[in-house]
Amino acid sequence: MEAAGDMVVSLNYQGDILYASQRTIDLINAERGLIGSTLSELVCAAQQDALQKALADASATRHSDRVKLRIKTRDALLWFEFQLSAYTTPSDTVELLAVGRDMSSTHATEARLRHIATHDTLTGLPNRALLSDRLRMAIAQARRSGQGFSVATLDLDGFKKVNDGLGHPIGDALLRVASARLIKALRNSDTLARIGGDEFVAIMPGAVSSADIKLVSGRLMSTMQAPFEVQGHTLYLSASVGVAVYPEHGEDEIELLAHADAAMYRAKETGKACCVVYNSVQIGQPEHDLSLEAAMFQAVTNGEFFLDYQPIVDARTRQIQGFETLMRWLRPGLGMVPPSRFIPVAEANGLINLLGAWALKASCVQLKSFEEVAKRPLYISVNVSPRQFRQAQFLDLLDQAIAFSGIAGDQLVLEITEGTLMTDPLQAEAILHQIVARKVRISIDDFGTGYSSLAYLKRFPIAILKIDRAFIKDLPASEKDAAICNTIMSLAHHLHLTVVAEGVETEPQLQFLLDRRCSYIQGYLTGKPMSPHSVLAALAEAGIPAQPVRAAWDEAVPGSSQPTR
Ligand code: C2E
Ligand code: CA
Ligand code: CA
Repeated sequence: MEAAGDMVVSLNYQGDILYASQRTIDLINAERGLIGSTLSELVCAAQQDALQKALADASATRHSDRVKLRIKTRDALLWFEFQLSAYTTPSDTVELLAVGRDMSSTHATEARLRHIATHDTLTGLPNRALLSDRLRMAIAQARRSGQGFSVATLDLDGFKKVNDGLGHPIGDALLRVASARLIKALRNSDTLARIGGDEFVAIMPGAVSSADIKLVSGRLMSTMQAPFEVQGHTLYLSASVGVAVYPEHGEDEIELLAHADAAMYRAKETGKACCVVYNSVQIGQPEHDLSLEAAMFQAVTNGEFFLDYQPIVDARTRQIQGFETLMRWLRPGLGMVPPSRFIPVAEANGLINLLGAWALKASCVQLKSFEEVAKRPLYISVNVSPRQFRQAQFLDLLDQAIAFSGIAGDQLVLEITEGTLMTDPLQAEAILHQIVARKVRISIDDFGTGYSSLAYLKRFPIAILKIDRAFIKDLPASEKDAAICNTIMSLAHHLHLTVVAEGVETEPQLQFLLDRRCSYIQGYLTGKPMSPHSVLAALAEAGIPAQPVRAAWDEAVPGSSQPTR
């Protein structure tokens, strides 16, 4: 018994220690031996019942079952597997012999195996199996408390490109950083699982109101939008999020996950980098205003769409330099439908590709006719929607528009938003370089309202920034807007970018912009969007030299000048 590596103690029926091997005494670090102590004193509280049962079993049947007891040793709490046996001493008393084998390494292995089976090895997050468990628990909990929860499925946009383009080690590192960020964006009581390559699921107890969902999904999305620094690469991602709420959108885990998934695919279709909450009516069917959508297809056939052109002028001389093409839809008997209403619908159902292609070709042809009257080169600036930009045939379309109209590449400007670039920066970069190779310029529309990383200004071949109307509107009174405009302008000058200020309506606004060396302006002050017919008239009029009366009137009454029609 003294030689055994196991713990060996003998006990009386009360559990008092009568003998302890030297190995046992060393393990426990009992300097004065263990005689007089009880076995129970060495065992952790949680295993006291198990010990009592083993003592009782051994007394009744001579041998107890094997029992795992956690022992307070010198260094740590260690797992031992004990078996207790009764034996009769030469003096005919019955005593118990307890032999304990050190299980701590086996125990740790078991725990590790359990962890591996339920967690993702790359990120350490719960895997699909554990997610199902947690979802069932969340449902049980919600039933008891009456407090619902939401499930969010999150897919990283642009991850595949990184993985394929830069290799799996970088893809893996990116996933690790991304999952760490996601965890930080969630609360402690939330569960985050990784269930596939770049797919994550979050369970969020209590987040059921649309305000709550908006808040957390916004946090999840924005934490993915900040640039990632991975092994010397600056990488950009975004996230598409789909949300389903218990119990409204599903009563069990399978239904909830399926609906969160469907919503997430919807978010992807809608141009990525957004969150969609499951809605049984909309998902799987054309979204938005169904009657508007039906009318739109009809409108294409009926030719209800047309284009207006808004002058972009030299801020100093006010001479027209170019035009932005703005799409219009006049519904017979119902009036104008604003682009802010129909463009998102066209974007969602794909009609934007058709409409956008037409707008691009028609604008280039129109520009030729404008130039014939103006007798000098002008340029045309055309809005390109995110979906159109990524369309496979987009570059062919560009070539056709230029070739067919006969304009030069540098007379065409494409207006895209920051969001378009950020959804899949690698793909965007490739497309941008092909566009620039045709001498066509890129203008960032609504600059400052979307994505807030300036890194892309360095990375992408951009020529023009359009300051959003929101920053111009309250100039020059608003100190904050003034500060923003100052900063954008100085940024643009240093980066050799041209600035176009949008939505200039008053003389003081123009003066403010002039003082900061803004090159171009576009707004009601210098020209509203107008029909090609009115543009031709305006250009013809501007061709007539010197209009002293008009100029004097402008100076006398600042802000009174009406757009030239
Ligand atoms: P945007 O590209 O920012 O277009 C500028 C908008 O500002 C236009 O609104 C224009 O009419 C308006 N605007 C210009 N100057 C002023 C001003 O001084 N004051 C005020 N209050 N507004 C001014 P619009 O025409 O309603 O177009 C709205 C949006 O619809 C556009 O915003 C653009 O995002 C989209 N859009 C228009 N045409 C097209 C198109 O052909 N393709 C695509 N993809 N989107 C288009
Ligand atoms: Ca625009
Ligand atoms: Ca704009």
